Amino acid sequence: MLPLRPSPSLSRRGFLARTSTGLAAAAASRMLPRSLNAAAEPRRIGIVLAGLGNYSTRELLPAIQESQHLKLVGVVTGSADKGVAWAREHGFPERNVWSYADMARMADAPEAELVYVVTPNSLHAEHSIAALRAGKHVICEKPMAISVAECDQMMAAATAANRSLTMGYRLHFDPYHQELIRRAQAGTDGPYLAMSGGFGFTMGRKVWRAERALAGGGPLMDVGIYALHEACLAAQADPVALTARERPKKRPDLFVDVEEALDWTMEFANGARADLFTSYADNMNRFRAEGARGWIELEPAYSYRGLKARTHEGPLTYPVVRQQTLHLDALAVALRQGTPVPAPATLGRRDMVIIEGIYESARTGRRVTLRY
Ligand code: NAD
Repeated sequence: MLPLRPSPSLSRRGFLARTSTGLAAAAASRMLPRSLNAAAEPRRIGIVLAGLGNYSTRELLPAIQESQHLKLVGVVTGSADKGVAWAREHGFPERNVWSYADMARMADAPEAELVYVVTPNSLHAEHSIAALRAGKHVICEKPMAISVAECDQMMAAATAANRSLTMGYRLHFDPYHQELIRRAQAGTDGPYLAMSGGFGFTMGRKVWRAERALAGGGPLMDVGIYALHEACLAAQADPVALTARERPKKRPDLFVDVEEALDWTMEFANGARADLFTSYADNMNRFRAEGARGWIELEPAYSYRGLKARTHEGPLTYPVVRQQTLHLDALAVALRQGTPVPAPATLGRRDMVIIEGIYESARTGRRVTLRY
């Protein structure tokens, strides 16, 4: 029986336990010499990439190739030719090239144990549920889906299949973010009561990320989610209420049915606040958390590499890591050992409750109380 969490709500204790377990697993996996790891985990977990776009090709494929506990054993793609090319290049059988409509047939491939869903946001629920029903564990990219109702359906499918459903929240495995989490848990700077920052970039041309049908929303679904997730990590809690405001569009032709930029403020039960921002019209990649005794600031905060951070005591410097490799290896170890999985679906659902609250507040102009 896998450590699935039946309740969609996320207690602080449960969150801390899962986060620290995931981090401990990552640290343990880094500390063990390769030979010992191999002895403890004789067979690699077979992973399937569903969606062979930019993130899969440029970041996840190299991460899997570097991992100690995973092996690419198949792909799900809309292009059979591309799938066959991947099979030849990466040494898995051509029968393990599935189409999206064909995902049920993955049940016939026991070597495929874990499916990584890396398709546009509005397809995450459909593809995750198809993989779970085929008996596979799933790691899903952010955002988990495009509504809380979809998140609930995904979690119900995971429970029914007795399979694990987790999120690709790679920053849990970045050393700068681990330091932020460590300080927050230890109360090094006092509880973080004032948080700020955001994530945005200038979108040059219309892509699926700016279409409601595929993206579910605008920059909030795509990159703003990082800032709200980070604030919850720093606060070590889930927000209880929020207010949000959509900025006037500078390019309404590009952002027809999604927001172009949003500001929002999240309130926590202990009085902490997070003032955050997301945009497809402005560049920002920053997070700051302040407590009574000190502060930490990350900028760039959410990138794959090249993060920088400083505290009131000076700059922090950590080695460059591949976040995704550490994350995937920790997930593989947890799945093998039956221990709590990193970045469980409860976190993805929690973030979707917040996202729905932000859109509701921006639409109505009212303060929204959050219920998980
Ligand atoms: P992309 O456009 O490069 O790739 C999307 C893939 O989905 C393509 O292979 C495309 O063919 C496939 N697809 C399947 N059905 C489709 C359909 N109906 N319409 C369009 N494409 C379809 O996108 P990406 O940048 O790889 O993003 C994919 C997912 O990964 C998104 O959910 C995104 O939020 C997430 N992502 C996460 C990170 C991260 O750091 N965690 C980074 C980038 C992307």
